[in-house]
Amino acid sequence: MYYVSTRDRLSKTTVAGAIAYGLAPDGGLYTPEAIPSLAGNALNTLKDMTYQQRAVYLMNMYLDGFSASELSGFASKAYGSGRFDDPKVAPIHKVDDSTYTLELWHGPTCAFKDMALQMLPHLLTASLRKVGENKMVCILVATSGDTGKGALEGFKDVPGTRIFVFYPKDGVSTIQELQMNTQEGGNVGVCSVVGNFDDAQTGVKRIFSDAAFKDELAGRGVFLSSANSINWGRVLPQIVYYVSAYCDMMKAGAIEKGDRLNVCVPTGNFGDILAAWYAKQMGVPLGKLICASNSNNVLTDFIETGVYDRNRPFYNTISPSMDILISSNLERLLHAYTHGDAPQVKQWMDELSETGRYEVSPLVKKALERDFAAAWCDDAAAKAAIGKMWKEKHYLIDPHTAVAVNAMEQYRAKSGDDAPALVVSTASPFKFCTAVMEALGVSQPAQGLDSIKQLSDLTGLAAPAPLAELAGKPVRFDRVTEKENMADAVREMLR
Ligand SMILES: *Cc1c(COP(=O)(O)O)cnc(C)c1O
Repeated sequence: MYYVSTRDRLSKTTVAGAIAYGLAPDGGLYTPEAIPSLAGNALNTLKDMTYQQRAVYLMNMYLDGFSASELSGFASKAYGSGRFDDPKVAPIHKVDDSTYTLELWHGPTCAFKDMALQMLPHLLTASLRKVGENKMVCILVATSGDTGKGALEGFKDVPGTRIFVFYPKDGVSTIQELQMNTQEGGNVGVCSVVGNFDDAQTGVKRIFSDAAFKDELAGRGVFLSSANSINWGRVLPQIVYYVSAYCDMMKAGAIEKGDRLNVCVPTGNFGDILAAWYAKQMGVPLGKLICASNSNNVLTDFIETGVYDRNRPFYNTISPSMDILISSNLERLLHAYTHGDAPQVKQWMDELSETGRYEVSPLVKKALERDFAAAWCDDAAAKAAIGKMWKEKHYLIDPHTAVAVNAMEQYRAKSGDDAPALVVSTASPFKFCTAVMEALGVSQPAQGLDSIKQLSDLTGLAAPAPLAELAGKPVRFDRVTEKENMADAVREMLR
């Protein structure tokens, strides 16, 4: 199976090429030419497997040129040996008879990014070998929080890799900064950038397009790559947990094989919900995919009207990982809905970068309506959802999950569709203690590390070990750079 660029149908590569190089030369995203189907009895087979075995079975369908034993090795490194604090890796949790959550935050950084970023380093290093690239790979990441820590943990001590993360000096929370600056591992580097997230991101992009710097690195046997969410190697591991959740729902007796299961996903870059769409295409009986947004509700409008318009105010919310106005992975869906009409997709993407707006065709609108629904809520409504869930179910959720819980309720009320539903839970509430405590009615919650203990005392719940242990960890990194000097910072970290 080949992978084609969303913007040029002649630009094709193997899956190893797609993962090794990330972005197609024309700026498009590599997408599988055809989506594999699950055999009739596959869900029964998968039902009795562990999460690792499910990952091998499903990823194998997309990874030509990788052997099952190779993939087993990756799966046990990524999801085995205590890396996740739940043996099920991505467990489901019953909220009521027809509503379950899928908890994707049991990994080392307590957010859903771990599901893919624990696997990506293995897929990437193997892909580089398969395409004959034998330089050491140096991953550069600009982060506004969760991705940086997820990538550091994923690439930590992976042979043949270095990983350097840049974050905006005053643009991340105390907890997020400490998570990064206490990172362990011999191949990692962390550096803050004077400025905001855009400065850090622009700086990293400038390094990627600096041919002279790349030549200099190549001379030292180093090859630059990125770990951001447009890489197919990040989407693929996410398909696994949707299939896995369907199997676990069958096992729990919540659904029978073949029953329609609606899924509601708190969405930013459209990577997580896109994986649900692939699972559905493969034959998992998923019903509506409900796209949940915060006040940055560009996707709600798009799904309801077919007009994507990023010309609108940007809001900083209590669900910061969804504060995003350009959802890159949507491009893969448009490619599929137009049956691979690359010139059309390219035209929309060009309009988006030139005017900030595009409108899809009636055919694409129809497809969107068939597969998706959308709803959004503001911070006050998200806090109300956290408070209500705690009061009624004694179940603590984070602000991102809360947006999805609210959206699920809105969808049910509006459509009357009361099929069983899975709400995707993307972060531990202990990553967002201050907002969660406000939602629980604490008038002046503690800030920073103190807030972890305060939330734990208040709820009687133990904080996840990686967060509880932060207080005792030595700070290893305190490098600061001006945005103009980020290449120098890379040189120094490479020493
Ligand atoms: C990244 C993230 C999201 C958004 O996921 P996308 O794949 O970007 O749509 C939602 N919640 C949390 C906690 C995240 O870290």
